[in-house]
Amino acid sequence: GCPGRILELKGNIRVLCRLRPGTPSSLVSSEPGLDGSVTTCYRGHRRRFRLDWVFPPDASQEEVFRELEPAVLSCLRGYSVCIFTYGQTGTGKTYSMEGPPEDPGIAPRALQSLFREMRTGGQHQVTLSMVEIYNEAVRDLLAPGPPERLAVRQGPAGQGGIQVAGLTYWDVPNLETLHQMLSLGRSNRATAATAMNQHSSRSHALVTLTLQAASSTRGSGTTGTLHLVDLAGSERAWKAGGVCRARGDPDDAQRLREARTINRSLLALGGVMTALRSRRAHVPFRDSQLTRLLQPALGPGATAVLLLQCFSPLDFHSARGPR
Ligand code: ADP
Ligand code: MG
Repeated sequence: GCPGRILELKGNIRVLCRLRPGTPSSLVSSEPGLDGSVTTCYRGHRRRFRLDWVFPPDASQEEVFRELEPAVLSCLRGYSVCIFTYGQTGTGKTYSMEGPPEDPGIAPRALQSLFREMRTGGQHQVTLSMVEIYNEAVRDLLAPGPPERLAVRQGPAGQGGIQVAGLTYWDVPNLETLHQMLSLGRSNRATAATAMNQHSSRSHALVTLTLQAASSTRGSGTTGTLHLVDLAGSERAWKAGGVCRARGDPDDAQRLREARTINRSLLALGGVMTALRSRRAHVPFRDSQLTRLLQPALGPGATAVLLLQCFSPLDFHSARGPR
């Protein structure tokens, strides 16, 4: 079909779903409803999800990105674009966001597309920052020294922004430098083995690009941002904790705390999405570091929020998430 349809969907928050291959896709069927929801059928169990888009298990990395690309490029027109991958460990979050080198995911494709567009469209100044949120502590993944915990503060009154004290911002002259910095940041990302997945990442990683149009070009003064967020696994606290306890892991308390705080940020994100989608007066941005940091990009205005919920088809019937 014609690409980029996701940007044309109504509302600034779009919940997309990607099913990981591995199970015959006939087990899961989905039908879009008139109200923007999707009804899925798994072994006869019907479930209604409030999803805007479903990528089937055979959707390629290229097909996924093709639908997202116009939304990504809107940050060159001053939009704040935020793309999340959300789901349990092993469902394809990192595959979708980063991808293997031979079949890159959303992030590398988005950056390539942005730099290609900027070359033809005029001068932009590109600034990069990269943080990790781990147990509600925010750390700079690109700091020259050892990563320290940074304080998140409310910006000056009236400006409404959030400031992260001591966070480094890097000028990025070209795509090669950007890729080098991102791989440095990724290698600094804290990981801890869990019984569920030895290499599962227990932290949220946020890459933020700021694109400021030079004053000589059309649309001067516009500043757009692109946030690419690979979220920690959404498995429930009791599950992660229970497995550790059963094995008498000496790091029990640590693992439980991790699972709880990971869920705190994810629950807060779900709460914020729900409040925004149902136009509630109070949006609980302040409930977690993740939602505090991303508040300007999530709220109403010139924003596009794309939440890619990743599922393994077998989990689909029991999965929970923001809706
Ligand atoms: P997560 O980051 O959610 O824990 P991963 O992205 O690491 O999960 O994916 C788990 C495994 O499944 C990896 O080996 C990955 O290569 C594979 N995988 C995930 N999604 C796909 C896909 N759409 N196509 C092929 N392999 C996939
Ligand atoms: Mg991962």
